[in-house]
Amino acid sequence: MKIEKSRALFSEAQKYIPGGVNSPVRAFKAVGGDPLFIKSSKGAYMFDEDDNKYIDLINSWGPMILGHGHEGIAQAVREAVDHSLSFGAPTRKEVEIAELITHMMPSVEKVRMVNSGTEATMSALRLARGFTGRDKIIKFEGCYHGHGDSFLIAAGSGAATMGIPNSPGVTKGTAQDTLTAPFNNLKAVQDLVDRNNGNIAAIILEPVAGNMGCVLPQEGYLLGLRDICDKNGIVLIFDEVMTGFRLSKGGAQELFGVRPDLTTLGKIIGGGMPVGAYGGKAEIMDFVSPAGPVYQAGTLSGNPVAMSAGLAMLTYLNEHSEIYKSLQDTTSRIAAGYRLSLDKLDLKYTINHIGSMISMFFTDQPVFDFDSAKTSNTELFGRYFRGMLERGVYLPPSQFETYFISTAIDNSIADEIIRANHEVLEELTV
Ligand code: PLP
Repeated sequence: MKIEKSRALFSEAQKYIPGGVNSPVRAFKAVGGDPLFIKSSKGAYMFDEDDNKYIDLINSWGPMILGHGHEGIAQAVREAVDHSLSFGAPTRKEVEIAELITHMMPSVEKVRMVNSGTEATMSALRLARGFTGRDKIIKFEGCYHGHGDSFLIAAGSGAATMGIPNSPGVTKGTAQDTLTAPFNNLKAVQDLVDRNNGNIAAIILEPVAGNMGCVLPQEGYLLGLRDICDKNGIVLIFDEVMTGFRLSKGGAQELFGVRPDLTTLGKIIGGGMPVGAYGGKAEIMDFVSPAGPVYQAGTLSGNPVAMSAGLAMLTYLNEHSEIYKSLQDTTSRIAAGYRLSLDKLDLKYTINHIGSMISMFFTDQPVFDFDSAKTSNTELFGRYFRGMLERGVYLPPSQFETYFISTAIDNSIADEIIRANHEVLEELTV
């Protein structure tokens, strides 16, 4: 595979951009090799600067549910650009998208637009603290909520561990307000709540985790968290930046029938433009400025171009709920094809999938939390990743990420992915 132009750009980029990229995972450090510089995309495919073609299983880390270059979204953006790039004043589109979100996700009675998932989770956390008058939060090992200081906390061994910052620059003071527990372990959460009686403002989680690879909540887990929050006056926050409007029209909360108090949303509601949002019970959201005392603002929040893209995307999803069955069918087809190859090659790797999210872990153990995800052989994953890339399949460059399936991936493209997977696994076993 020729990647000279990407290589030259990466070397140039490193002179001017820290590590040569604007978000760390793009540097391919976890898998080795040089990152590819992408020039264009269409449907299920991306093309790099050297004109190599890849089936895209990253899909911009979630938002391209409808594949690249969806005409309805592109047209909405073109029309919006003709009016202006930004006003800094309220617009009709903001009202329309807020109304649509509350319709599609009924636990969200009011919603505030921001510019990224990170902003959404940071703001939701401040709101939960302002609303409850408490400081501490519980997050889960292996869940990612963006790069806000409160979330960059290493999970300690065991639920009782006080937070230890895992990025220089996060103060001990901030870290000690973040308590961590293993995913899918209700007892660990109950213990933390008991030990910090009356001090927990919020429990935040990805209801289906995508950031330790795809990890599903076990039966009763989300309801159990709902129950703990109800009994202890804790705000339950579902971070649906990846799952909202992807796993179903109403996100993971609709799929599992559990209503959080607040929900954070991100990239998907911008259809690929930089957007985030947080919303939930009106009683809580009315604490946000200017209705209430919790301050949060943004010059470009509710940007008209981003709102137009998001509105076009959500309107399409709202009117075409049949796509969720078809996304699930494509994902199940890929999972079945992978399993067949694993059987033929006598390999025992673990596949987790739900809706249009799927991961294969290079471990023979079930993966239900971060510790079990970490039993994966990441060196083997790196070789697998590079083998898939050489065969034109672009996976997320880390074992601890989910692949995202788009509606542009039809059965024949799914079969190409299955074939590439078989060839690479075969190559790795000799
Ligand atoms: N929350 C979740 C679940 C995410 O997956 C991400 C990013 O991938 C974020 C929050 C942060 O979003 P952003 O990268 O837009 O700041």
